[in-house]
This record gives sequence, C-alpha cells and structure tokens, in this order.
Amino acid sequence: MGDERMKTSAKVVVIGGGVVGCSVLYHLTKLGWTDVLLIERAELTAGSTWHAAGGFHTLNGDPNVAKLQQYTVELYKEIEQKSGVACGLHLTGGVMLAGTPERLDWLKMAHAKGRYLGMHTEIISAEEAKKRMPLIDEKYFVGAMYDPLEGHLDPYGTTHAYAKSARLNGADIVVRNRVLELNPRADSTWDVITEQGTIHAEHVVNAGGLWAREVGRMVGIELPVLAMEHMYLLTDDLQEVAEANKTTGKEVITALDFEGEIYTRQERGGMLMGTYEKAAKPWSEQETPWDFGQNLLEPDLDRIAPELEVGFEHFPSYGNTGIKKIINGPFTFAPDGNPLVGPIRGLKNFWVACGVMAGFSQGGGVGLALSNWIVKGDPGFDVWGMDVARYGDYATLAYTNAKVRENYSRRFRIRFPNEELPAGRPFRTTPIYDRLLADGAVMGESYGLEYPLWFAPKGMEAREVFSFRRSTDFEHVGHEVARVRTSVGVMETSGYAKYRVTGEGAENWLSQMLANKIPATGRMVLTPMLNDNGKLIGDFTLAKLGAGDFLIIGSGPAEQYHMRWFEAHLPATGVRIEAYGLNLVGLSIAGPNARALLQKLTPQDVTNTAFPFMAIRKMDLGPIPAIVGRVTFTGDLGYEIWVKPEYQRALLDLIFKEGSDLGIGHFGLRALNSMRLEKNFGTWAREYRPIYGPYEAGLGRFADMKKNDFIGRTAAAEEKASGGALRLIAFKVDAIDADCIGDEPIWHNDKVVGWVTSGGYGHWVKASIAMGYVPKDLADKADGFEIEVIGERRKAHPIREALFDPKGEKMRG
Ligand SMILES: Cc1cc2nc3c(=O)[nH]c(=O)nc-3n(C[C@H](O)[C@H](O)[C@H](O)COP(=O)(O)OP(=O)(O)OC[C@H]3O[C@@H](n4cnc5c(N)ncnc54)[C@H](O)[C@@H]3O)c2cc1C
Repeated sequence: MGDERMKTSAKVVVIGGGVVGCSVLYHLTKLGWTDVLLIERAELTAGSTWHAAGGFHTLNGDPNVAKLQQYTVELYKEIEQKSGVACGLHLTGGVMLAGTPERLDWLKMAHAKGRYLGMHTEIISAEEAKKRMPLIDEKYFVGAMYDPLEGHLDPYGTTHAYAKSARLNGADIVVRNRVLELNPRADSTWDVITEQGTIHAEHVVNAGGLWAREVGRMVGIELPVLAMEHMYLLTDDLQEVAEANKTTGKEVITALDFEGEIYTRQERGGMLMGTYEKAAKPWSEQETPWDFGQNLLEPDLDRIAPELEVGFEHFPSYGNTGIKKIINGPFTFAPDGNPLVGPIRGLKNFWVACGVMAGFSQGGGVGLALSNWIVKGDPGFDVWGMDVARYGDYATLAYTNAKVRENYSRRFRIRFPNEELPAGRPFRTTPIYDRLLADGAVMGESYGLEYPLWFAPKGMEAREVFSFRRSTDFEHVGHEVARVRTSVGVMETSGYAKYRVTGEGAENWLSQMLANKIPATGRMVLTPMLNDNGKLIGDFTLAKLGAGDFLIIGSGPAEQYHMRWFEAHLPATGVRIEAYGLNLVGLSIAGPNARALLQKLTPQDVTNTAFPFMAIRKMDLGPIPAIVGRVTFTGDLGYEIWVKPEYQRALLDLIFKEGSDLGIGHFGLRALNSMRLEKNFGTWAREYRPIYGPYEAGLGRFADMKKNDFIGRTAAAEEKASGGALRLIAFKVDAIDADCIGDEPIWHNDKVVGWVTSGGYGHWVKASIAMGYVPKDLADKADGFEIEVIGERRKAHPIREALFDPKGEKMRG
C-alpha cells in the first residue's frame, strides 16, 4: 500500500480513506469495476473514523435509510471473511429505553415500522429491560424496545477489512498523498492533481469526511456539512459489569437512554458512555485545517455535565467509579443528520459520499447505493432520504450551521409529526409572508421556505401543541376544509417547483422525458416521469403555453433533484430549462365559489365551456398579469394562479376584496392534505417514489404508451403486462384520536403485508384516511385489513372510490 508507483489513470478515484471511502471502493469492485483507486492524505481511518465509538444500529426515521443500515450491519461478516481482517464485531443486541409514555409511543411506532422492514425488534417492559441490561435503574423507565441487530465493532479493523477486500478484488489504495486540485476536462473526465502526481479519472468520488467541504470547494460547490465536537467517556472496570457478564454469560448489551440523551455499551471491563449534549459545539466552522492530524480535541466535561448527571442516576454504578478516559473528536453532519450521497447537479462524473454521521451503521449502504449509481446509473434503492439533491442553494454554511447544531442537540429527542423545528428560520419567505402571519398563519418550513400549515382564528395564539394524536389544529383545519368545500379558500402555492421549458426542441424533448402525451396549447396534463427502470422519479402538471413554451409544476423540495435529471438529459441545442424558484409565485383559489371569484377579477370568459378543467391561459386579474390554470389538488373547483413576486401582495388583496361576499378565507397545507386524501390523490415523496412503478401507483392512465418512445417506456410496458408487484390503495381507518402519519404497517389476516405512505383526517367526509401499498394480489380484498396506529391495530376498510366527489363532477363542472 503506497509502495508501488501510483497509476496515472483510473476509471474512478475515491478521495478519502475513512470507513465511507473504503466502503465505496469495495462496492465498486464488487460490481466489477476494478480499475479504481483510493487516495488518502494521511493513513486509512485518519479522519473521524479512528476515534469513533464503533456503535451500530438499524433504527432510522427514514425506512429506506433504515434498510440500508440493516444491510450495513449484515455486511460485516462478508468483509471479514473475504479479507481475513477482523471487524471486532460485538453483536450484543441493545435496548432503547423510554422514560415517558410519549417516548414509548414513539418506540412502538418504530417497532411497527420495523415489522415491514423485516426487523425483529421487541417492545418490552422496564423490568424486562433491566433483566437484559442489568446496569439500569428501571424506575426511570416505562418500557423499552429491544433490537437484536445492535452492537459495536472496531473502527480501524472494519475500515481495513473494507480496504483489503477491495484490494483483493483489484482496487489500488495510495496513502500519504493529498488531493490538491480537481480539474475537469472538456470530455467531463477529471485530472486529479495530488502530491504524488496527476491521475486522469473518469469519475471522482468525494468521500473526504472532515474535509468534504474543502474537496467540494475544489470543484466550486459548497456542501452543506459541518463537523461537531462529540464526547464519550470510558469508565474504570466495574464490578457490576463483571457480575452481569457472569450471570448472563454475555457481554452487557448496548443501551440508548433517550431522556438521559446518552448511549452506552461495555468496553473491556468497564462501560463506554457518550452523549449528544444540548450545548452542542461545532468544530472548524468555516474550514477544516489540512494539518489536522490524528488529534483528539480538548475534553470539556462541563458541557456534558447536565446529561452525565442524568446518566449517573439512570445507570447508578457509573457514578461510583472513575473515568478512565474522555474522547472528544469531530465528525460531520448534514442539516438533517442523514448522509449526502449522489451526483451533483451540473457536474458530470463527480460524486459525493459525505456527511455520514453514523459510518458504522450507514457506511455499507452508502457504498452500495453510490457504486450502483456510478456503475449502473441508478442507486437501486430509494435513496431520497440521503440524496445530496434534497438541498438547494439555500443550504449555505450559516444555514447548515444552525440546522446541524439543532439536529445534534435534539438527536435523542422526539420529533412529533406536527412539530416544525425552529433553527435557521424564517429564512426563505414570499412577499405575502407577513400578511399570512398577521392573519394567524402557523408556518411550516420546506426546502428553506416558510409556508402556512393552518390559520389560528383571531384571538387565539398561533401555536401548536405537539402530539402523535390529533392536536390544537384539528378543529381549525376542519373549518378551513369546510370553507373550501362550501364557499372558497385561498392558499399560498409558491412552494411548488416551477420550470419553464422553451425552444424549438422543447416539445420533442419533453415527450421523451415525460410519460404522458404533450397537451395542446392552452391545456395541461398530469404526467409521471420515469427512470430507465420504469420507476417513478417525478409527477408533474405539464402546461403548454404556446409553441415551444411550456410550464411544469412539480414538488418543491425535489427542485434540485429534478433539475439534475433534466439537465443531465438536455440536448446541446434547441431546449432551455429554467427553475423559476421564487421568481414565480402562486396562490390557489378553490371551492364552489372559485369561478365566481375569478370572474370578478377578469373580463375574460371563465365559464366552464370557455375555461374548462385543465385549461391554462394568461389573464390579467385586475391590473395583475398572471397565468391561470384550472386545476387544484383539493379535488374541488379551483384554479392555480401564477404571478411574478412583485404582484403577489396585490393579488392577495384583490382576492380578499372581491371574495369577501363569496366567503373567502385562508387555508393551509394541512387542509390541503385532508382534502387530497378525500380524493385519494397521491403525492410526490409519499405515494410516488422511485420504488414504485406507474401502474402500481395507479398512475398508469397518465402514461401514454401509444406515443413515441420515452424514458422508462420499455420497463413500464412490462409492468403494465405483468401488473407489477404492489398496489396503492386507500383505506378508511377505524381510528380513535390519532390518524396515520405514514410508515405504519398494514396487516391482512394477521400478517404484515404493506405500509402506509400517508394518512390524516378527511374533515369533510368525517373519516380517518390512509393510503399505502399492499401486494397486488391482496388489493381487491374487501376486508381483513388492519393498520397499526401507535401500537394498536385498527380495522381498515379499502376505499374503492374517493370519499369526496368520486366522479370528479365538482372539479370538472
Ligand atoms: C467521538 C466520536 C464517536 C463516534 N462514534 C460513532 C459510533 O459509535 N458509530 C458510528 O457509526 N459512528 C461514530 N462516529 C462517527 C464516525 O466516525 C463517522 O461517521 C465516520 O468516521 C465517517 O467516515 P468518513 O469516511 O465519511 O470520514 P473520515 O473518517 O473523516 O474520512 C475521510 C478521509 O478522507 C481523507 N481526505 C480528506 N480530504 C482529502 C484529500 N484532499 N486528499 C486525500 N485524502 C483526503 C481524510 O484524511 C480522511 O481519512 C463517531 C465519531 C466521533 C468523532
């Protein structure tokens, strides 16, 4: 290693010899790419990897990331066997301890989610937890979840096991060689300038860990990652540990104490205990020094004293012994704590695998997904939760700093489904933001943008009580829904992504990119976008405004993700695409009085014959130039209105002025969600994701199989013929005080057969509704279904026709 002369070209250069880079390297070789080279500036593990506590687990808020964590843990046997290098695996199992009923609810939900992921967790009592983990004082806990797939390993051994396995497969590794510059060539390959010379590489992978930002800057990007200081301590040998080892015949299992905000496990004859302290401290906020060696940071016990105090109560023996060592080291996080993986928009053949905060739970999955992506053009899994494209330009260093601190300090805290996190907000706002606040808006944030969730009536504080169950907003969301269903409501829609596609080649290109037919001028269609495997990677409203002039409306948080795909498929000439961002903003009006309202704003004829469902056209509304499309996600009569930002305030004023005698009022995203569930309308990132095909998702009618070839057509045709494996169906749930939120298991005749993608309360139809996927063969069954809501199985009745306006007469009439 490092002795031979370095090669001067390689198909892939991986920058960084931490656990992540070594995993990527190994997985590339497993896929048969052996002309691959890893370059490490110091020694393998010299970044954050060497001083890790080595703990691993499968639990993750995103089930798709959890699946990849499960894969990682199961991989260790394979690399040990292949390399002959021991990973030092201690698969002890572990308990996650709940100190409050809410936390136990949360664990029950995690346990339920684990069922459809094939995990074998158990919910146990505090007494049972004490039997399995004798060092706790059970009086502080109300229950626990046991997970057999937890434990710890040797970070050094594991990284070397990946590295040696890769080398045995033909990869090269060069250490003590820093990458200094990355220069693109005209053919989209790279010159990798290193201390030991230049390598010409087809692909470059940034697995730079603590230096991922600096490697990103070499190609002109600012990655949203930040390192945080993190401390764990090792106790002296404990008699209680020796006793527990003797009575159980096993090592003490790992434990995670949410209320104490600590994790702990056995380390030799003593215990290791770490915390994610509230007084979180970033490290090297602007730039990581290149001369940072294998150094530890100065421990600061005061900073973690509040957490330790609780820890010593909950694990009493820890307080009676000495602290042998305190480790303080930095490691990196993305704003939401999940990895940043994938290609970068606009940079060909440049890939990232960084921000991996749990390298020993996630490194294998990251390596697998990224190498699939590089070699086969697709990650092979649903990696949205860790796709680098889930962030846009708004994720600057300062934004990242605020969010990472927040995420770190809340790592062991519950995030309720109706809880919006405050750090770094408000940030992106639209021109009517202050107006909405003044009208009682309770704001949420998505893609950095503030948007109204619901409106508190005058005299009521616009505040949310966080809960897994129905909460303070319930009644008010109900009023908003009633307003739309009986008169007319207005909602901010600027958070959607909006794209303009122009040029003489635009129509042909869009026809290849999107599955549905191209609409006539002045018309819109709904259209899925498929990848080469025929899976859903987008669902859009496509509008033709004129010859070679198109407007596309899609999911807001997927803007970067979709632009990456669009731009990667753009021909050299003839087509231009632009994401409007907030250069085009919107309001939607919906409800039976929406047409009367629109007619008051414009002299144009907007009767049903003149301006039918799915029509779109330019209109002046009062003095305001706008584009108006007759479409709404509420399932009612409605319109989406698009204007330049400078007109949005005037438009809102006009709508309220002219709508006052028609019953106008605001509605927010919660009401919209309720109404779209009443119509069985799916939505991006919930019902529509790259693990489902269009026929499985019920979008088959929007794929025009008769038109020219389009991306994913062959695979879609196969799915159509075979029927696919799954079916999206909607259910009416016999819920009591809590509705589905997504990721609940769906049972059929006492077996878990599927999962919920989204749920909520249909306020107008007065029913708790869930949507989810089940095996195709079960989709027609009328009964036998149950959905597990906070640990309780509730009867679920398939809804074959939307509960609201099943024939679409209101929408079209
Ligand atoms: C105190 C502590 C406890 C932890 N405990 C756990 C735990 O229990 N479980 C867990 O899963 N994780 C734990 N972690 C986190 C874990 O260490 C990280 O998830 C993991 O190390 C990330 O690995 P990486 O390969 O992405 O980054 P790194 O280990 O930082 O590797 C990046 C590598 O890239 C090299 N490099 C960077 N730039 C260049 C360049 N220009 N040229 C050449 N080489 C370059 C660096 O030298 C470095 O070796 C802990 C971390 C700390 C600090």
